[in-house]
Amino acid sequence: MFDKETQEFLENLIITPSPTGYEAQGQKVWKNYVSAYADKVESDAYGSALARIDVNSVLPAIMIEAHADEIGMVVQHISDNGFITLNRIGGSDSTIARAKKVYILNKRGRVTGVTGNTAIHLQETKNGGGKQPAWKDIFVDIGVSSKEEALEMVQVGDPVIFTDEIDYLNDELITGRALDNRIGSFILAQVLKNLKKRRSELRVNVLALNSVQEEVGGFGARMMSYRYMPDAAIVTDVTHATDTPGIDNKEHGTVNLGKGPAIQHGGANHVAVVRLIEETAEKHKIEIQHEATSIRTGTDTDSIFYQQTGIPSALISLPLRYMHSPVETVSIKDIEALITLMTETVLAMEADHHFTVFE
Ligand SMILES: [Zn+2]
Repeated sequence: MFDKETQEFLENLIITPSPTGYEAQGQKVWKNYVSAYADKVESDAYGSALARIDVNSVLPAIMIEAHADEIGMVVQHISDNGFITLNRIGGSDSTIARAKKVYILNKRGRVTGVTGNTAIHLQETKNGGGKQPAWKDIFVDIGVSSKEEALEMVQVGDPVIFTDEIDYLNDELITGRALDNRIGSFILAQVLKNLKKRRSELRVNVLALNSVQEEVGGFGARMMSYRYMPDAAIVTDVTHATDTPGIDNKEHGTVNLGKGPAIQHGGANHVAVVRLIEETAEKHKIEIQHEATSIRTGTDTDSIFYQQTGIPSALISLPLRYMHSPVETVSIKDIEALITLMTETVLAMEADHHFTVFE
């Protein structure tokens, strides 16, 4: 388990709303924390944040990266009697959106609402068999009875999140909303903290990038990796743990919660960077798992690796159950292992490290 200050940062980071396109509040929490462990913290127009350790300008720069945004919803329409219809931001799942508490984030703060659920007795299909809703079927009740009243509190375009925060299962797992990928932002901050302590061992400069707008296409990472053009990049994001009922391992691979970070192979993942990560894991006896990338990794790695003349990149994934739901679940053991693996891989990089696919 983490020390008290670290845990407080983790919880604060997760609780603070950060839906795609509206990451500023969460980024403030992150920037504030990492400023103690970086020489400089910078950000760009859209709000991606970068914390750097500048050892020596002649040395190569290694980027470590995670995305800051979480999926969410948006106010799409307000009916004459004051009910609010939602649309999604990123890959939010409408089939789990009923009977939940939500916050609508307005200019002044937030408004609490509930997504209505027609009582089982009143549903046309009996036995709880209400049909799977689309987003247009989900409505929010904010306790008003007219559109005029609603418009005093919210407007079309306001972002919406589930109110679920954070909890612990058996002291080993963390469960909550937005762990995809605030847990990655947390990991980055801890790696930075470790590297600051071991600064004298560093033979590269470090750029820790916390990107906006991953969930709609990896845009923040694209802007910032183009701008900084690091010599290599190591990305962290969550991946599907496939160890719960109903998942076909033949189709989706085998990734278990608590069995360590998952190393991705193929696609944007550069073989030499992947090799360095694997060697580092072996040297430090860190248990890892393996996943195949068939075409895309579905993470910021896809946005980073092909910038300008190419950035050798690799993805280290954190196993997560129930992705894109308010009960996303991760293992503390895996988080700790990923922090160690990322820290040691950056420390293993030499000043004259050349990543090439040729031996
Ligand atoms: Zn993600």
